[in-house]
Amino acid sequence: MTQVLERKYGKVKIKAYGGVDEVGGNCIVIEDEDRKIVFDNGIRFSVLRRFYGGRIEPLGLLELRAVGAIPPSEALKEASALYISHLHLDHTGLLSSTPPEVSIKVPSTRTLEKTLASWYGKSVSWLAYIPPDYAAKVDEVELNKEDENKVTAIPVSHSCFPAYSFLYTGSEATIFYSGDLRLEPLTTLSPRLDEALSDLGVDRVDVALLEGTNFNAEYTPITAPMFRDYLSLLLRQYDLVSISIDPLDLEALITLLDLSLLMGRNLVMGSDRLLWAIEEIERVRPEARNNLYVAEELETPTPLPHISLLQEVFKNPENYLLAIEPTGLLHIFRKLKIWGATPTLTGSVVVLLDPEPRESTKEVEEGALKTWLKSFAMQTLRVRLSGHYLPYQFNNLIEMLKPKDIIPLHTEETELMIKLFRKGFSK
Ligand SMILES: [Zn+2]
Repeated sequence: MTQVLERKYGKVKIKAYGGVDEVGGNCIVIEDEDRKIVFDNGIRFSVLRRFYGGRIEPLGLLELRAVGAIPPSEALKEASALYISHLHLDHTGLLSSTPPEVSIKVPSTRTLEKTLASWYGKSVSWLAYIPPDYAAKVDEVELNKEDENKVTAIPVSHSCFPAYSFLYTGSEATIFYSGDLRLEPLTTLSPRLDEALSDLGVDRVDVALLEGTNFNAEYTPITAPMFRDYLSLLLRQYDLVSISIDPLDLEALITLLDLSLLMGRNLVMGSDRLLWAIEEIERVRPEARNNLYVAEELETPTPLPHISLLQEVFKNPENYLLAIEPTGLLHIFRKLKIWGATPTLTGSVVVLLDPEPRESTKEVEEGALKTWLKSFAMQTLRVRLSGHYLPYQFNNLIEMLKPKDIIPLHTEETELMIKLFRKGFSK
């Protein structure tokens, strides 16, 4: 069962029910005099993968709780609010498990409705527990402003939009909870953390709960400028460039749009799960409207003009950049096979840029996806653009927050982070 980490800073008590020594599953409870609040309610995919797989599926909330894949009932019981930092499942978790007395504060009610709720609401599996109950109290967090629970939501950059860090101004300690964050945003959509903190007039905190996903990662994630350079290169060298992204990663999608405009291509959205972003794109890039299309093969009504992949995009592949996510991509290619349509896509490339594997459920097996793509003569490349800060930026993070103590979260390198923190401290 779950080991609960407990720390006390004066009257402020912190309990971590998940996210300690593991990537994902964050659930942090803060108790301060008569106040109880919770940051995140994540699914522990490390546990989920140990107990389930193939046809062994979770039976329901009780079983998931019993095996420790979701936080125990005591974590949320009688809390005044549950704050969700962003809509990745290892943070959002199963919202319908929230007790009725707890108000749920989400990054965006509209995004929740258009993404997780609409993708999983009608699922016949345990995924149907992701959206909140229809009777739940769901509100949006207030950004850059202290709310009734003394919590300030600070917008941050992550591979999920919008994403927040939280600052709690307690009776005897101020607590910073990072959620997941990049220190170098891909676009200007999200601010840099140092700027956001200085706008708030925050130059130090007492305790920082910090994610450390990328410590000891077995791959080297590339930075935002490296990503833009590499993609420009692909756009120069290949015919059709298709990129599979996390459908919640609006920053990546905007970057694809900007690059396609720069390189004289049109961006085609090829997955239903990306379409929630149209409204956001029209808000931040209204000028891009003439270069943006939705694949006709999706058969989804949208305010954007449709374009046929088979009749147009695959015939003039050098004019397009196709944004997809793995589920949607496979769907289209399977349809083409059934129709007996075998467009020649030799010289085209698919870039797989999906989220960190340890933080999510895989809805498409990569091996199978590659087989389908290969059957259309498409090459596949994997590019790891992380939604998290890189290890060398840890010192910058510490400098921004100047914490007296840290609690590493969302990492398998807890000891290392503490050592690095102490080393910096002794200088
Ligand atoms: Zn995340």
